[in-house]
Amino acid sequence: MSDCLFCKMASGEIEPDIVYQDDDVVAFRDVNPQAPTHVLVIPRRHISTINDLQPADAELVGKLFLAAQKVAEQDGIAGPGYRTVMNCNAEAGQTVFHVHLHVLGGRAMGWPPG
Ligand code: 5GP
Ligand code: ZN
Repeated sequence: MSDCLFCKMASGEIEPDIVYQDDDVVAFRDVNPQAPTHVLVIPRRHISTINDLQPADAELVGKLFLAAQKVAEQDGIAGPGYRTVMNCNAEAGQTVFHVHLHVLGGRAMGWPPG
């Protein structure tokens, strides 16, 4: 998707603050962090929302979480704890329509989310 912000980050056309990457996923710091650690983990391949995931994407979705685990370890929040969030569509607050897993940590999290 040539007009997708996160596709441009995955391809290197725009260079975010990358904290982890491999053949399938890229993790970079959110430009507007909501916690001391706020990283977004994206698949390199464009998928707009959770609603667009296919059964064949199951392994890729697992890789998003394995990347989140690595990021948490790197940032020292694996033990204390962290939150992963993936918003889907307007009522959940999705603003970038390339799926991304938020990894938030470094402070206590409230529940339920607002
Ligand atoms: P959503 O609201 O779709 O779940 O999350 C989108 C996230 O992308 C937001 O947390 C927002 O701050 C982040 N974001 C939007 N534009 C940019 C950008 O240009 N660079 C980075 N690093 N993050 C961005
Ligand atoms: Zn995209």
